[in-house]
Amino acid sequence: MTERRQPEAKAWLNPPAPAPTPNRKLCTDCGLSRTQDPKRCGQACQFIQPDYPGLEQLVHGRQRQQSTPTHGAQADELFFGPYQQILSARLEPALPGAQWTGITTRLAEDLLAQDLVDAVIAMAADPSDRWRPRPVLVTRAQDMQQCRGMRMGYAPLLSLVEPALAQGHKRLAVIGIPCQIYALRAIQAQLEREQGLQQLYVIGTPCSDNTSTENFHQFLDLISDRPQDISYLEFRTDYKVEVRTDQGEKRLIPFLNLPLSTLPPDFFPLTCRTCVDYTNVLADITVGYMGGHGQQWLLVRNARGQAMLDGLSAKIITSRPISLGRRDGAVRGFLTNTARAAGGLPLRRMPAWLKPLVNWLMPRIGPRGLEFARARVEMKAIESILHLRRQAPARLKNMLPAHVWQLAARYGLHPTTTDGRGETPKRHQSR
Ligand SMILES: Cc1cc2nc3c(=O)[nH]c(=O)nc-3n(C[C@H](O)[C@H](O)[C@H](O)COP(=O)(O)OP(=O)(O)OC[C@H]3O[C@@H](n4cnc5c(N)ncnc54)[C@H](O)[C@@H]3O)c2cc1C
Ligand code: SF4
Ligand code: SF4
Repeated sequence: MTERRQPEAKAWLNPPAPAPTPNRKLCTDCGLSRTQDPKRCGQACQFIQPDYPGLEQLVHGRQRQQSTPTHGAQADELFFGPYQQILSARLEPALPGAQWTGITTRLAEDLLAQDLVDAVIAMAADPSDRWRPRPVLVTRAQDMQQCRGMRMGYAPLLSLVEPALAQGHKRLAVIGIPCQIYALRAIQAQLEREQGLQQLYVIGTPCSDNTSTENFHQFLDLISDRPQDISYLEFRTDYKVEVRTDQGEKRLIPFLNLPLSTLPPDFFPLTCRTCVDYTNVLADITVGYMGGHGQQWLLVRNARGQAMLDGLSAKIITSRPISLGRRDGAVRGFLTNTARAAGGLPLRRMPAWLKPLVNWLMPRIGPRGLEFARARVEMKAIESILHLRRQAPARLKNMLPAHVWQLAARYGLHPTTTDGRGETPKRHQSR
């Protein structure tokens, strides 16, 4: 055990001096390439040669279960990865400024307050732009409030890990999105072996449809006359975007009314169109919203995740998630439109007269709760296959784990060798 650290006057650790952004076709600048040993990207990157089965085994002690003729597996692990329990949840009262109710922030605050970690690495807002993420190292529970809320964009979270260890923070918590957490888990053993990492708590959020902060500002310009006043934005599970402003206004925009067709085709970078881990399967606990049907959505993945959640038991209200509606039609429609977009064709648009009806119907009859989450995971799998086929076919073989093909098979997408690139699902030896 390390000695209890005194609260430090300086709670923030600035990221190392900016290094050039990595010049790779598929890279979200997770921070690894800015460390002393950037060659590690070759083994640690989600976009190069990921080994999900191996890392699931390492982190959770098992891979995601799937039913066989002789063994009935736990439901939904093909979609969401290994878990011990899935819950809908909310903090009561919600933390002001949080993206949802602030469970993510509160978990990290508790780790610091209980002296289970020396520091937390997470994202705050850049002082010059509230939508730009900036990695920070937090050593006092009261400073975690700076990290509440979602920013759009990429920032080198992992560039703070080794400086933190070098400063003596050997027990760390990291809050991150899936592409960051994959790389962190891939180097965890090395950090333990060579840099004295003693404890690592990983709080993950799901992630999808991220883009650069600059692109996101373009989007805000399209949905508001006063984009500078927008303080909050979320894609909700009732098929609406919620926008809040500094003046206290709240607006709900149905997805179908969004000006998506006016965005450039590369608005979402190829990374985020082909990312294969929506639900952050290597976190100890994933804190999202998409299976929560209006509440937060927790996937407790292992004993460490459960211990973190137990710490909040007096402040959190949980329930069993619902699962309603059928996703097939929505996913097939998405497949058709994505195939058109990936082929450079315009999206099929709905006639204007039909939109109000569909906007009314979707929250009532569309997939809801866990079925909504399954639909989104299948859509991601389809999107990854179609966009990689079109834009980076040589990556298919190594980048797509077998479970992505299994998810897409239901919609008639299978690996093919006809393009001569040996596009076959990747099979791994367990680590
Ligand atoms: C780009 C992006 C897309 C997302 N898409 C989905 C989705 O499709 N479905 C879903 O269920 N959830 C998604 N999430 C997660 C969701 O927005 C909430 O963060 C999550 O539900 C936690 O809410 P909370 O109130 O507990 O978080 P809070 O207590 O408000 O804490 C938010 C945490 O998010 C981290 N964070 C904020 N911005 C970034 C960023 N750009 N990069 C890395 N970390 C960041 C901060 O470190 C902070 O700790 C996404 C998050 C991001 C950043
Ligand atoms: S590991 Fe991180 S920094 Fe390296 S290529 Fe991948 S996303 Fe970029
Ligand atoms: S969508 Fe995937 S690749 Fe893009 S930022 Fe999120 S986790 Fe990373």
